[in-house]
Amino acid sequence: MLGAVISLILVVAAAYAVTQIGGVITLLFIAAVLFLAYRRLSLLAFTITFTVLLTAYTWFGASSAPAGVWKGFLWLLLAVLWLLNVRPLRKALLTRPFMKTYLRLLPSMSATEKEALEAGTVWWDGELFSGAPRWEKLLASRPPQLSAEEQAFLDGPCEELCHMLDEWHITHELGDLPPQVWEFLKSRGFFAMIIAKKYGGLEFSAYAHSCVLAKIASRSPTASSTVAVPNSLGPAELLNHYGTEEQKDYYLPRLARGEEVPCFALTGPRAGSDAGSIPDTGVVCRGTWQGREVLGLRLNFSKRYITLAPVATVVGLAFRMFDPEHLLGEKTDIGITCALIPRNTPGVSIGRRHFPLNIPFQNGPIHGKDVFVPLDCIIGGPRMAGSGWRMLVEQLSVGRCISLPSNATGAAKAGVWATGAYARIRTQFNLPVGKFEGVEAVIARMVALTYTMDAARSVTAGAIDGGEKPSVPSAMLKYHVTEMGRQVANDAMDVHGGKGICLGPKNYLGRGYEIVPVAITVEGANLLTRNLIIFGQGAVRCHPFVLREMNAARNPDRRAGVDDFDRALFGHIGFSISNAVRSLVMALTHARFTRAPVEGPTARYYQHVVRFSASFAFAVDVAMLSLGGYLKKKENLSARLGDVLSCMYLASMVLKHHDNQGHPQEDLPIVEWACRNLLYHAQEQLHGFLRNFPNRLLAGVMRALIFPRGRFYSAPRDRLGRQVAELVTSPSASRERLGQFIYRSSAGGNPLGLLQEALLLAVQLEPLEKRIRIEGVKTGRVTALDLPGRIQQALAAGILSETEAAALRDFDRRTMDIINVDDFEPHELGAQAQPAARSSAHVA
Ligand SMILES: Cc1cc2nc3c(=O)[nH]c(=O)nc-3n(C[C@H](O)[C@H](O)[C@H](O)COP(=O)(O)OP(=O)(O)OC[C@H]3O[C@@H](n4cnc5c(N)ncnc54)[C@H](O)[C@@H]3O)c2cc1C
Repeated sequence: MLGAVISLILVVAAAYAVTQIGGVITLLFIAAVLFLAYRRLSLLAFTITFTVLLTAYTWFGASSAPAGVWKGFLWLLLAVLWLLNVRPLRKALLTRPFMKTYLRLLPSMSATEKEALEAGTVWWDGELFSGAPRWEKLLASRPPQLSAEEQAFLDGPCEELCHMLDEWHITHELGDLPPQVWEFLKSRGFFAMIIAKKYGGLEFSAYAHSCVLAKIASRSPTASSTVAVPNSLGPAELLNHYGTEEQKDYYLPRLARGEEVPCFALTGPRAGSDAGSIPDTGVVCRGTWQGREVLGLRLNFSKRYITLAPVATVVGLAFRMFDPEHLLGEKTDIGITCALIPRNTPGVSIGRRHFPLNIPFQNGPIHGKDVFVPLDCIIGGPRMAGSGWRMLVEQLSVGRCISLPSNATGAAKAGVWATGAYARIRTQFNLPVGKFEGVEAVIARMVALTYTMDAARSVTAGAIDGGEKPSVPSAMLKYHVTEMGRQVANDAMDVHGGKGICLGPKNYLGRGYEIVPVAITVEGANLLTRNLIIFGQGAVRCHPFVLREMNAARNPDRRAGVDDFDRALFGHIGFSISNAVRSLVMALTHARFTRAPVEGPTARYYQHVVRFSASFAFAVDVAMLSLGGYLKKKENLSARLGDVLSCMYLASMVLKHHDNQGHPQEDLPIVEWACRNLLYHAQEQLHGFLRNFPNRLLAGVMRALIFPRGRFYSAPRDRLGRQVAELVTSPSASRERLGQFIYRSSAGGNPLGLLQEALLLAVQLEPLEKRIRIEGVKTGRVTALDLPGRIQQALAAGILSETEAAALRDFDRRTMDIINVDDFEPHELGAQAQPAARSSAHVA
């Protein structure tokens, strides 16, 4: 409301002023100045151009008294601009005093926080923070591709693995992967995708690694969780980057061959999300190791939730290292450190299991009491003591982009693939359920979200293969892709009704639905990731000036500090003004004149991303300037800004993915649904940010510059939803593309394969069913209530030939085989005699 009032006042005031001080010429002058700000001229270039424009304006403009006052004000402004160009003067008068205040307001930052903030690289996320993203940077990168070897692995061992997996047997009967599957995983290198070939690993690209996980996830959440962990942040990854040559030579070949099974233990009962606060200790001392007295660490730790721990042979352990006797140097508290601890080290107790929501991937606690290991166990050796946190955050940016996003995408692809077919073969009220508007809307959402997830997964993996370590996108992917996965899992269950709910060998959705909260919780629980990390890290890391300002203000070399700070500060001011102008202009014009890198139907989405980028960058600056460190506490505000950033990022991924796939025309409805959904959400989150911004006056000014015409970016239409749903409820190239990398063979009764076959038959036999309806049911010659009865009567009445009747009977049998669910004798479901569960806390 305040924003609308401010907009109105500004418009009236501007109109009045313009009439008073000289109509068209004034308008031209203002437009020219706005254009300069929009184009982001440097301060000097702006000042020179402004001087020329103002001279011309003074010469040709009106000469009334109000015009004189107005021009006087402009000349004064020009004088200030020229003064600001004199750097020694502005440094003395403005920069130095401001820097002192800034330094006082700057929240203190521990070395750990600093390391986390500076970890990884800034990629497309940085462009979105700029208010003027350079699309060439994104579009120039080559589409990710599998090498012949990687493709052969997907088609060979990966396909074979999927064929071996029977999730019901694993989850209900065995409570583990079968021994032959464990053996297959180890011997075929599934645990060695990130290990270099020279150590016997597969050395796959990030993209191939992601595709393998997606494929396994489309078949078995237990197996995909098991495979994800050794290839993610853990011993192999840490050894790759920081290990000593001896450690690499010893462990990497053994990990590659599956002789060692790794786990990584960070979390404990007292430190979950706040992982930096682990109370586990490693104290430097002398002790005996393999019969020799050596300098080492006495470790005491209690960890829980550790994936693969019950079967691990080597534990990557994070702990806080102390040197109270100063055996290594001056420091007592050395900091978080990572070490590799063999399972059989005396004092380590390991082997019990947690039971994460019915999905029996190996997960459990680990405890250590006075465990002695030599200093050589520290990953990277003693020189890396205290660098554990940096190691973790640096490597997290890669693993977090791949493991969970790929697993969630694979599961979502399988969900859409199955749901599209099921909604076509399951009929109610004489129609396939997928034809009902309400169901169509849900299927459309599933399709567009899965497309978005796939786009984010593959394009970001491609960037990693290009050398990026995108830390802020890794948080965006972790949060949004797993949340989208949650939505798709829910939707798939809804469309399947009771079929999704009754567990048993014939249920292909239930376990995927059950594992969703695991993906939400691990590798940075989603609430924390959304509220604290995405924007919190992005604001400092991706903003073109904030980190520069912070580093300059903290620079112990005062002279150099002031110099850098001055450059960053004035760059920042120009940047903010320009973003305010760009936001206003693009909002007023609905971004119609904004440059897009492509022509055609997707061009508008590129334009809108640029528009939201400018509005976002402007809002971020106002928020940071007015709230400072308090913004970190206002989690709902920063979460909304993080959502805006993520929506722009995901929309960019969708556009790039469409581009990577060669702009297939048939996918346009999906691209439109996905982009509209994301950009609409960005708009609503910006609105929510403004509604809750504590300083109402500033909120009003921001609203006037961001939404001067109100919020009129619209969500996808129902008609578009229908087009999208049709693409997966019938065989289509879009359905094929969406189903790429899932396990869809029908061998061994794989439900995804059987569903596809049934879908093809449904489409092929549709004319026969129609004929029975028109020539039989409507004429009264066919009166049976079910399909087998109708086929029989239609055959008898000569409406169908023998061959046609046989084809329909076959289709009906296949369909009912899919639609049917399992039932059990009561004793088959009874819990077997189990040892009483023991709280892991008691063991410590
Ligand atoms: C199945 C499974 C496998 C796992 N595997 C491993 C593993 O292999 N190795 C390992 O070290 N760890 C592992 N974890 C641990 C996992 O990373 C943690 O569970 C996670 O970090 C969250 O910790 P927590 O469960 O103690 O939740 P808590 O830290 O207690 O958090 C509770 C809730 O509060 C939210 N929250 C906390 N702080 C904030 C904040 N500042 N702002 C907003 N929200 C906040 C969290 O998001 C969460 O929703 C695993 C966990 C599970 C369940």
